[in-house]
Amino acid sequence: MTNKEDLFKKIVAHAKEYGFVFPSSEIYDGMSAVYDYGQNGVELKNNIKQYWWKSMTQMHENIVGIDSAIFMHPTIWKASGHVDAFNDPLIDNKDSKKRYRADVLIEEHIAKIEEKINKECEKAAKKFGDSFNKEQFLSTNARVLEYRTKIEEITRRFSDLMTRNDLAGLKALIEELGIVCPVSGSRNWTEVRQFNLMFSTKVGSVSEQADIIYLRPETAQGIFVNYLNVQKTGRMKIPFGIAQIGKAFRNEIVARQFIFRMREFEQMEMQFFVRPGEEIKWFEYWKQTRMKWHLALNIPKEKYRFHDHEKLAHYANAATDIEFEFPFGFKELEGIHSRTDFDLKRHQEFSGKKLQYFDPELNESYVPYVIETSIGLDRTFLAVFSHAYTEERLEDGSERVVLRLPRILAPVKAAVLPLVKKDGMPEKAHEIMNILKQDFQMQYDEKDAIGKRYRRQDAIGTPYCITVDTQTLEDNTVTVRERDSMQQERMPIENLCMYIHRNIKPLEL
Ligand code: ATP
Repeated sequence: MTNKEDLFKKIVAHAKEYGFVFPSSEIYDGMSAVYDYGQNGVELKNNIKQYWWKSMTQMHENIVGIDSAIFMHPTIWKASGHVDAFNDPLIDNKDSKKRYRADVLIEEHIAKIEEKINKECEKAAKKFGDSFNKEQFLSTNARVLEYRTKIEEITRRFSDLMTRNDLAGLKALIEELGIVCPVSGSRNWTEVRQFNLMFSTKVGSVSEQADIIYLRPETAQGIFVNYLNVQKTGRMKIPFGIAQIGKAFRNEIVARQFIFRMREFEQMEMQFFVRPGEEIKWFEYWKQTRMKWHLALNIPKEKYRFHDHEKLAHYANAATDIEFEFPFGFKELEGIHSRTDFDLKRHQEFSGKKLQYFDPELNESYVPYVIETSIGLDRTFLAVFSHAYTEERLEDGSERVVLRLPRILAPVKAAVLPLVKKDGMPEKAHEIMNILKQDFQMQYDEKDAIGKRYRRQDAIGTPYCITVDTQTLEDNTVTVRERDSMQQERMPIENLCMYIHRNIKPLEL
């Protein structure tokens, strides 16, 4: 097992052990790609939601939120293109009976070649020491150049096959590249087939085709079909945005990597309506603004990168992903798309209702263009959680696991710990709890030695531990231990509330 795989396993185990994320229906042996958030997970998730929601609706005077229903008129999914084209190409290995996404097999093959380039680079850096020039090495080393050419060639053919929906071609490419099933090790593949990712169910009691409805595979369509309602009732002027957080459902073929790819997940999406012709300016604005949002979490910028789409979907005229370096490599965390007037025009066509906006400044009506920012809440959770997970060896030789979460996102902001379970200390600690719980999510803990209690709070990322001791009973002061530095300071109980408020600052937007 590589170090990274090992680390990822530890992160998943930690999430379960400390009440962040549980496998769904665990006592019935679980359900693949469905997870439940536990008592700490739900707090962290809510805090992330709040940070996003606030950054959109409170910090932008021209963005408002909605909460649309999961069930929608089935024609919406015809209009959006999901019924006909929301497919993934799937392929089975006949020996292991395992199912894969054909596109992902090829992408992983490309990633392996990229990994080889990194290895060459590391080797050379070791060999040449200080005199190593990475850029020069990457642009001149024969082996690296050979790998690069290979990657370019595969990528070109791959995106061409995907655009043309050439399923036989995808299979041929998989065979030609010698891709083997990671489980059986064989190249015994079935044909590639298309698989629609939408879950369907029936409404009412009659089982006729017309009654089929879908669980939404994205929240965006709820925004599109409500855009005029919001514009009119909110008297919104273009440019303006509508934000929404909600569940989405996709019958993912390959559901691995914990909460990275789930069948039921949450999205945080915002559609920004602009004048036709101004969309690229706004696309750039949102690209920068969204990256700033990520960086405000105090995660190093090296962990993020843009991945601009070269091949665009037919309705888009610019698109980029913000990728994050998860423990299993760089993967998409958020998509930013310039979707033109595609969706609104299609809804106009399918509903027969006008979805135009009258622009008083231009004195004309038009269907607005749309910039979309779409981020997975669960993927953000995983990004924040995995980055925060830290194993530390302390000066006294002992070890601790600490979640270095941004304080504002921590599930519990402070814990109150009576040093011993007697002499009036628990009563005093409860008094403190009662004051602070008005303002903060708090925890009271009197079980085990104080060191063990500190470790428990470190493991869930609690920024402050407040300890009540003998001196507290004499002079109403307590010690406050900070999570990361483990420094302790003594202060009067009456200062606690202000102290925590001051130190748990909102993330800067
Ligand atoms: P991927 O290529 O990884 O399947 P996508 O391009 O299909 O993702 P979008 O349709 O752009 O994803 O959805 C927007 C965001 O929703 C993604 O950036 C991701 O954060 C999140 N997301 C999409 N599918 C899932 C899923 N199955 N589980 C968790 N989050 C998801």
